[in-house]
Amino acid sequence: MLKIHTIPIKRGGFKIEQPLDTDNLTPLYIHPIIQELSRIFADAGKKLYLVGGTVRDALLGRFHEDLDFATDAKPDETIQIVKPWADNLWLVGIKFGTVGLSKGHLKIEITTLRSEVYVDKTRRPRVAFDTDIYFDLSRRDFTVNAMAVELPQGRLIDPFNGQADLTNRILRTPVTPEQSFIDDPLRMMRAIRFVSTMGMHLSPEVEEAISVYRGELARVSSERIRDEFSKMLTGAEPAKSLRLLVHTGLSDLFVPELMNLKITQDPEYHHKDVFEHTLTVVERVEPDLVLRLAALFHDIGKPETKEIIEGKVTFYNHDSIGASITRRRLRTLKYPKAIIEDVTKLIYLHMRVYTYRMGWTDKAVRKYIRDAGTLRDKLNALIRADCTTKNPRKMRQSLQVFDELEERIIRLEEAEEAAKIRPPINGHEVMEYLGIGPGPLVGEALHLLLDAKLEGEIETKEDAYALLDKWAKEKGLR
Ligand code: ATP
Ligand code: MG
Repeated sequence: MLKIHTIPIKRGGFKIEQPLDTDNLTPLYIHPIIQELSRIFADAGKKLYLVGGTVRDALLGRFHEDLDFATDAKPDETIQIVKPWADNLWLVGIKFGTVGLSKGHLKIEITTLRSEVYVDKTRRPRVAFDTDIYFDLSRRDFTVNAMAVELPQGRLIDPFNGQADLTNRILRTPVTPEQSFIDDPLRMMRAIRFVSTMGMHLSPEVEEAISVYRGELARVSSERIRDEFSKMLTGAEPAKSLRLLVHTGLSDLFVPELMNLKITQDPEYHHKDVFEHTLTVVERVEPDLVLRLAALFHDIGKPETKEIIEGKVTFYNHDSIGASITRRRLRTLKYPKAIIEDVTKLIYLHMRVYTYRMGWTDKAVRKYIRDAGTLRDKLNALIRADCTTKNPRKMRQSLQVFDELEERIIRLEEAEEAAKIRPPINGHEVMEYLGIGPGPLVGEALHLLLDAKLEGEIETKEDAYALLDKWAKEKGLR
């Protein structure tokens, strides 16, 4: 389908270069590798700019080793220019005009400035820009990402006041949000992602446009949605992003289950719905993708399993139902199999600890160890984060149960470890070697061998026989 665009901004209306009023960009453009690169482009008569997230992060004082550049050189010209200079070249992005390279410890991507012809409703070319940095910046997602640094001088080009928006931590689009989000609906996800990862706020127009145009997200591939969702979840403030997803209704397009959590009240936390409890748990676990996904989905089975039994609200089996809802959702979002397995296992097991108080046999503890496997630390982190009760007595009780189970696991493992340690030779071999029959001497010899093994004095059968020999002589047995 041909997309119809109108460009409300005119080239003449742009504010041109702003004087550089921050020192934060200096380390970037005086970097020797960046200076070298800008020199070889200048020698070839081509322009070179640092762009996008690289400029944004530099203004915030964050210098990455992954740098994005834009140039008016065509991709094949870029290749010619950088080939003799780069340590490595890669051309996977070449059809989007991107040449990748590495130089020293820097990873560099250089993209040809976008030149596009936009048509109006009559399909006649309306605005044909030549390839310039202003047009390129106007097609970027947010004003804070629509700044460039012209090299080699290091002049900041900021036609949409991105710097001010960055200072105020506000996300606005260079063109109208409607136009931007229809053009690429993934930007709605990116907007909400930057709230968590960069402490940004949405402008009221951006938030409103997400609510109105959220349906457009259906045109975006699951993989692209998934990647933004993962970044959002592992950011510093996922709760804010998740609230926005639900508030704007964008979540309905890819995790409709979240909305149901919002309307399910949990009697344990009367003042809160299950959604708010979930957000607390998400933020209490460390920013590891598996843990954050498990925290987000751990109570996803509650709306379906809610039942009032003898006047009490219950959620029987919400762990196993939740695990299967989660499996389906993560598959649809195209998460890798290993992640799906780990997340669903954590959800499936997150309530088991609550049966511990009823007394577990060693067999039950072993089953828990086996079922949790390598996820035991994450499971422990999840169940502790899940304990959000405001009632100090309940909190103490729960923590005591978790501690007891952990201790029991450690003791059991130690005992099993110890049981695994045996002398290198057995009773039969002792009797045969010494030429004696069963009796206390055999036990005494085995004790001696076990002690020596525990002390690390013997390891092999030969060591054991040598020690046995010495002992037998001392005892007068030989
Ligand atoms: P991150 O910190 O995740 O790298 P970023 O803003 O650098 O954030 P990238 O995906 O690396 O994101 O993109 C680099 C730049 O390309 C962005 O800063 C932005 O200018 C532009 N950009 C990326 N995705 C889009 C998009 N969907 N629409 C418009 N511009 C985009
Ligand atoms: Mg980036």
